[in-house]
Amino acid sequence: MTKINGVSLYELKSKYQTPLYIYDEDMIRNQCKIFTKNFRHPKMKSNVVYASKAFLTIAMAQLIHSEGLYLDCVSQGEVYTALKAGFPVEKIVLHGNNKTKEELMMALNFKIGTIVVDNEYEAKMLATLVNDSYKVNVMLRVNPGIDAHTHEYIKTSTLDSKFGMSTLDTRTIETIKLLSNQPDINFLGTHSHIGSQILEEQSFYDHAITILNFYKKIKDETGIELTAINLGGGFGVKYLKDDVRLNLNVVLKELLDIIYQKSNELELKLPHVFIEPGRSIVAEAGYTLYTINQIKTTINHKNYIFIDGSMNDHIRTALYQAKYDCLIVGKENLNHDINYTIAGKACESGDIIIHDIKLPEAYPEDLLLVKTTGAYHYSMASHYNRLTIPPVVFIKDGKHRLVVRKESFMDLLSHDEEL
Ligand SMILES: *Cc1c(COP(=O)(O)O)cnc(C)c1O
Repeated sequence: MTKINGVSLYELKSKYQTPLYIYDEDMIRNQCKIFTKNFRHPKMKSNVVYASKAFLTIAMAQLIHSEGLYLDCVSQGEVYTALKAGFPVEKIVLHGNNKTKEELMMALNFKIGTIVVDNEYEAKMLATLVNDSYKVNVMLRVNPGIDAHTHEYIKTSTLDSKFGMSTLDTRTIETIKLLSNQPDINFLGTHSHIGSQILEEQSFYDHAITILNFYKKIKDETGIELTAINLGGGFGVKYLKDDVRLNLNVVLKELLDIIYQKSNELELKLPHVFIEPGRSIVAEAGYTLYTINQIKTTINHKNYIFIDGSMNDHIRTALYQAKYDCLIVGKENLNHDINYTIAGKACESGDIIIHDIKLPEAYPEDLLLVKTTGAYHYSMASHYNRLTIPPVVFIKDGKHRLVVRKESFMDLLSHDEEL
């Protein structure tokens, strides 16, 4: 592989230098379309919300808007980015498990479409802030206790999770009553998200059924009929050659069918259904291009490739033991018979990009391309060691364009004050 969507990686290197985040814009758009086309049901309203924490820039917010998705934001910074990009406020969903009063006030001032409240405390705080200038849509984050088969750090739905209120907790229904009785709040229903990088479709179906059973319980106990359901994201992607992708064409339709049938069976109102994919919209469309600086073999015969990037632009290996595939540009046809570990420039033993991967013999100045880095890379990048965050390039129809420019050392110092 020497090109991405028709553009030469050598050309990108000479134009933008490395490290460089590269996105195939056509592929992001295609993923958006897979979601919007398949997450449809003739009898129910449904919408796809892009979880912007996976990757957000002004250009990305504009792309998401042009594809007709809603946008999930979790901070004032994400909301600000969306607003600067011209994203319609009514299509913004504000999440966050620990919102400040300022964040809630900002959301109300801008008339953000929907606020997802995390807990009883936040519900009460919001109730004191709303006013009759507009009726805000509100959902409550609940925790349905679904055990999705994913990594410990990205599970979100265990009983002691920091997110939301358990569906088993009696205070949850009390909070729903409180929100439903507020005249300036349009309480829609619950939001829940069972984890990330889930490759087992049954977890999504079990999740929907558990929530609908909870809706039935709410209806029986309080008479409140909830009108919408937000099932979060978590759709897994392919990181390694042997990973099997979720078949989204099947899963999304099936999920809506199950919700339709179950709602009828429980005699519930048909809900407006929302899902919030993040990773599955951008992960596979993104790559990180590095240049190999040095090669080293330890006394114990471990071979290192040192690249010009680091955990600053690629934290997920250190943070989640995530695994990645990579290639040396232009050398895919050579024998992959040397075991390498790819490491970065940061002063940390944990600064590893890939542990143990078989590659052809690598040389300084070779270009190394890490795949599936579109989600939670740029958005998790840091300035550790005062390294600069790489620029971001989009490729569309064989043309490249910068969507985030390279940081300069001036940028890095722009907030520093003299002693
Ligand atoms: C992180 C998150 C998502 C997106 O998760 P992915 O695994 O990236 O699809 C959606 N909704 C909420 C509330 C989240 O926290």
